[in-house]
Amino acid sequence: MQSYKGRFEPTRFEDLTVTVDFHCHSACRFCIVQEGMNLFRGVSFDRFKQAVDDNGKAPRYRRVTFTGGEVTLEKKLLQYVDYAREHGGFDHIRVQTNGRRLADMERAKEFVAHGIDEFFVSLHGHNAEVQDYTSQREGSFDEAWRGMQNVKELGAVLMTNTVLTTMNADTLTELVETVAPLEPARMEFWNYLPMEDYGDERDLLVPMQRLGPAMRGALRRADELGLRALVKYVPRCLLGEYGHLLDNTQPDVVIVEGFYEIYPRFACIWEAKCEHAESCLGLTHPYIEKFGWDRATLVPVPRTTPWQEPIDGASVGSDDPLRGGSHPIAHHPDWAALVEGVAEAEGVVLEALMLDRRRCTFRFRTPAGSSVDLMLNRRSDDRPALARTQSFDLAYRSLEVAPNADAASERAQLSAVLRVAVQQITARDKGELMLDERKGLVGAEAFRRQPPVRPD
Ligand code: SF4
Repeated sequence: MQSYKGRFEPTRFEDLTVTVDFHCHSACRFCIVQEGMNLFRGVSFDRFKQAVDDNGKAPRYRRVTFTGGEVTLEKKLLQYVDYAREHGGFDHIRVQTNGRRLADMERAKEFVAHGIDEFFVSLHGHNAEVQDYTSQREGSFDEAWRGMQNVKELGAVLMTNTVLTTMNADTLTELVETVAPLEPARMEFWNYLPMEDYGDERDLLVPMQRLGPAMRGALRRADELGLRALVKYVPRCLLGEYGHLLDNTQPDVVIVEGFYEIYPRFACIWEAKCEHAESCLGLTHPYIEKFGWDRATLVPVPRTTPWQEPIDGASVGSDDPLRGGSHPIAHHPDWAALVEGVAEAEGVVLEALMLDRRRCTFRFRTPAGSSVDLMLNRRSDDRPALARTQSFDLAYRSLEVAPNADAASERAQLSAVLRVAVQQITARDKGELMLDERKGLVGAEAFRRQPPVRPD
């Protein structure tokens, strides 16, 4: 079995990302969706409507994010946005963009008027020289800058996204200083993930000995300037006192399943020894092949608790850039209602409600500290289950008795909790809530037709 890092699936819960199409008028040298542009169409409107309608009926996602290549180029974007606004029950509508089209104030106003309230703008250089070289489009820095100014003027949420490569690694502090006057809600820094050039033929991967000090400098400057920051895919131990800014979660993406086949895998030689091994991904396999394991550069924090293979990905709430964190995970009233009153009646607490597209997990904890997870999966009829309700297969896992507690009575109490919870869920499940076990949500229709291969 591969380690957890090797199985990493980039799924953040409560946020839904939809790929409208894969065209772009920039040509960033690191673009990780170039392969996507060649292979994948966006999500069809019908499939999108279905996902939005599902959310309208059984809310799981608080935000929908539109992306692709450059989504602001797509004429049909506003059709998607309108439908999401009217039917999806989302709190926020976000676009991920290179910002160039937002330089046109009338267009920016149109986007905001249709309900887009968050703009996640790619900015990969602190000046035109670096940004235009990276995007291979002269003027792209100036356009993105005007676009970001327009977003601010319109009162929408502005966030920036910077992909860390050899092209900008030495000027990250300058980038923070450049962006600071715009007061973005957050600056994100995503380490480059090779998805086409696994051998790093483009020479974009930054050696960790260089990236670590550069990132720490940029994060320190952001801190001094009062800017929030977030980092993805950088080893946590390289971030020093800013390790808590690492967040490797990603939205749930409506995209073709095959897209994840090209997603790189991760590993760290210190995985079993490091306290942060569950939240930190370590290094990508292409990086390790090129630079080695960086044994001396990565510094594990000695574990104080035994390493446990994580069962699921991270359970986090919906992104909340204005408050610098996430919504509480437990705020899912329709799902919480399935077990309402169970914990109180049995003298335990419902400690967590973890919901994603595939699974709903309730965690109950006794006063002595023992716990059990009750999981709801989509009803299948052909796998073992503790019970089946109209919509779900129910199962339990991770029954853990607290040290020093009376094991027999703790088990008896948790068994009673499970029994009552199953009864309640069976009675209350009227088939209105849904789970979906597929990863990508769209099938073969999302692939572009490839030209026929000519016989030699
Ligand atoms: S030692 Fe490995 S797992 Fe621990 S923080 Fe560093 S890269 Fe991450």
